[in-house]
Amino acid sequence: MSILLGCIADDFTGATDLANNLVRNGMRVAQAIGIPQCGLNADLDAVVVALKSRNLEPEDAVAQSLEALEYLLAQGAQQIFFKYCSTFDSTPKGNIGPVTEALMAALGTDFTIATPAFPDNGRSVFKGYLFVGNQLLSESGMRDHPLTPMTDANLVRVMQAQCNHRVGLIEYQDVLAGAEAISLKMTHLKSSNTQIAIVDAVTNDDLYRIAPTLKDLPLITGGSGIAVGLPANFGIDAHPGSSKLPPASGYRAIISGSCSQTTNLQVDHFKNLGGATFAVDPLVLNQKSTEQLLKEILAWAKAHLSLGPVLIYSSASPEKVKTVQSLLGIQEAGSAVENLLGLVAQGLIDLGVGQLLVAGGETSGACVKALGIDQMQIGLQIDPGVPWCYAVARNQPLHLALKSGNFGAPEFFTNAFLKL
Ligand code: ADP
Repeated sequence: MSILLGCIADDFTGATDLANNLVRNGMRVAQAIGIPQCGLNADLDAVVVALKSRNLEPEDAVAQSLEALEYLLAQGAQQIFFKYCSTFDSTPKGNIGPVTEALMAALGTDFTIATPAFPDNGRSVFKGYLFVGNQLLSESGMRDHPLTPMTDANLVRVMQAQCNHRVGLIEYQDVLAGAEAISLKMTHLKSSNTQIAIVDAVTNDDLYRIAPTLKDLPLITGGSGIAVGLPANFGIDAHPGSSKLPPASGYRAIISGSCSQTTNLQVDHFKNLGGATFAVDPLVLNQKSTEQLLKEILAWAKAHLSLGPVLIYSSASPEKVKTVQSLLGIQEAGSAVENLLGLVAQGLIDLGVGQLLVAGGETSGACVKALGIDQMQIGLQIDPGVPWCYAVARNQPLHLALKSGNFGAPEFFTNAFLKL
């Protein structure tokens, strides 16, 4: 078996989001959690390797990404896609820039693009500035992100700060003019010693105009949006039925460790509808052991699961998160909550949960790792960027949806289960 497209995603929800867009456009996709140690199913068009490298030290993110690259090339991948968040989650140290440059070097290529645009989810790039809905990235909730606060919306500047290569821009007027103008601009950028181009895109039509110009690039980088046009580059058309999963069973639960505005709204919506909720305050871990708190959460869940979906959340306002971080430390608070929620996921499966939503990229990574899931089948989309997936966890069938913090409508936590 030889795959066409090999993808490396820097977090788990992002990997699912990308796989979702490829499946919707006709590709047969497997998502591997980490670098697979064994063979994958035959007859695949693409493999998405989900790393948890977004918030690692740049050297570690680069090392993991290169290992994933080696694996994908060994599977025959003709093109590599490095997927990051449509809100360009990174810091001046990286990891989008360092990983992109390392992959370029390993593939021996001197040009690639970077476009996080994902119009279906309100992420657009114009004149190099990233918008989240109607707001500049730097004025959106992303400015308060616990791990990667985004305070500059100018992606040329943001990417340049992370790169040794020169970063340029393919502007909207070229994108609008079509493939020929885009290719011409690429040639112009290359000849003026610019190796990485941020590409403007505001609508899906823009992404479909850009896609054919990427056919011969060994490496593409971006959000999942640009992936919608890639299957056609390999002669693959969208077809229904590629997203069918086995029937769902078992109790329903939601774990939320995302503190984004979007997730906080979803938590409020679920509460307002009278859903059963357990709020986890990380500061409690100063007084109680993780084991004690876990026991309390699972005892509460056991009492409520038969009545409908339960929500266990540490999601909190930016002010509360800042207080927790100032007392526990940023990384320490993040790790403590992730560790706890991973253990909660294990406990819930053992209580008979067969349908699980997880909100938060890092949180999803922690839960998937704790559940020992190494492969997922991608199913029906719930909201843009979030499909239901199917996996085997702790020897039981599990329907799982991994939601990036910023994704989903306010009623996501209730609607998602109706779609199964
Ligand atoms: P998102 O997808 O919204 O970025 P993530 O799960 O990736 O969500 O990131 C949220 C981070 O914040 C995680 O590391 C999580 O453990 C941490 N976290 C969750 N709740 C709290 C809280 N109440 N205080 C501080 N940090 C928190």
